[in-house]
Amino acid sequence: MSNRAYLDWNATTPLRPEARDAMVAACDVVGNPSSVHGEGRAARALIEEARRQVAALVGAEPRHVAFTSGGTEANLMALSPALERDGDKAPRDRLLLSAIEHPSVRCGGRFPPRSVEETAVGPDGRVDLGALERRLADGAAGRPLVAIMLANNETGVVQPIAEASEIVHRAGGLLHVDAVQAAGKIPCDIKSLGADLLSLSAHKLGGPKGIGALVRREQGLHIADPLIRGGGQERGARGGTENVVGVAGFGAAAAAAAAALPGERARVAALRERLEAGLKALSGAAVIFGAGVERLPNTSLFAVPGVKADTALIALDLDGVAVSSGAACSSGKVAASHVLTAMGVDAELARGAIRVSLGRSTTEEEIDAFLGAWNRLVYALPKRTHGVAA
Ligand code: PLP
Repeated sequence: MSNRAYLDWNATTPLRPEARDAMVAACDVVGNPSSVHGEGRAARALIEEARRQVAALVGAEPRHVAFTSGGTEANLMALSPALERDGDKAPRDRLLLSAIEHPSVRCGGRFPPRSVEETAVGPDGRVDLGALERRLADGAAGRPLVAIMLANNETGVVQPIAEASEIVHRAGGLLHVDAVQAAGKIPCDIKSLGADLLSLSAHKLGGPKGIGALVRREQGLHIADPLIRGGGQERGARGGTENVVGVAGFGAAAAAAAAALPGERARVAALRERLEAGLKALSGAAVIFGAGVERLPNTSLFAVPGVKADTALIALDLDGVAVSSGAACSSGKVAASHVLTAMGVDAELARGAIRVSLGRSTTEEEIDAFLGAWNRLVYALPKRTHGVAA
């Protein structure tokens, strides 16, 4: 597979060498982290070191990090009516979700469907803060939990979280932020964002699959109904013997991602610029979604009228290039993505959306391989369909 161009980093990322080394070393740690003997304490030490590393990535206290099986579980854990603050045990009675959330948030977590509402985004893919404020004002004396992601997995559009946090807190609400796609790609500090809860996933930042975390901003925040009970691990937040190898890999990946962030961010942004300039040169009619606002530096979601995403994906794959149509989780479905629908994009155009996402080891050669494959693809189509530049 070495001559292939892997450009689907938002689906998942290759393992960082630091994560691999930490995991290999953790495989030989025999103890159960809950055991009091030396072997147990060695396993516990690995977990607590990883907790510090993950906490540092998002500016949190290590004791506020609870490890989960990934971003999906972290989201499900967070979206609970039994979210208590400073001993206030009255349940949260409304869940407001931005219209562009990941399916693991869109499902509403543990809220009954009748308590779940959606709040709009603008055509640029950013949450409409005025609409959010109005919705919060609407709910006569509700106790809302609001969920807004830090960056969208399809468009890469970065959301105005700090501003949303002020609005939510003024209305007496709590804010959950799905930072799965953003962490490690842009700065992500739980305090400056003003997020009460933050979800992370290791495999999006060079760690292993199947491990993530839910991070709290304050000690006073408590989820009274853990998803997995019994055992008391993770300070009661999640029962079961910890995934020591996964946790060690997550910690090492988080530390490496934090150290490399400024350099990787600039390098990847320059590659994305090369990609989008090349694309525009080949397909003048290409529409790049969210292009006018801040996006993750690695993500480009575009459509070219007349080019179908499913056929393009297969042709690119056969030509050695791995990309995705919108969200990887919804691949295989021909329906327009809910993200582009929420942005008011025409359904026909939205159905053609292709996501190219880059990462730390992406090269100029891979970008050029994509452009070469794209060129072959569009020239095989009738000319009127792709708006080829002269
Ligand atoms: N949230 C977002 C924004 C994602 O992009 C994803 C994965 O694609 C998830 C949550 C789910 O994370 P995980 O794959 O660790 O369950």
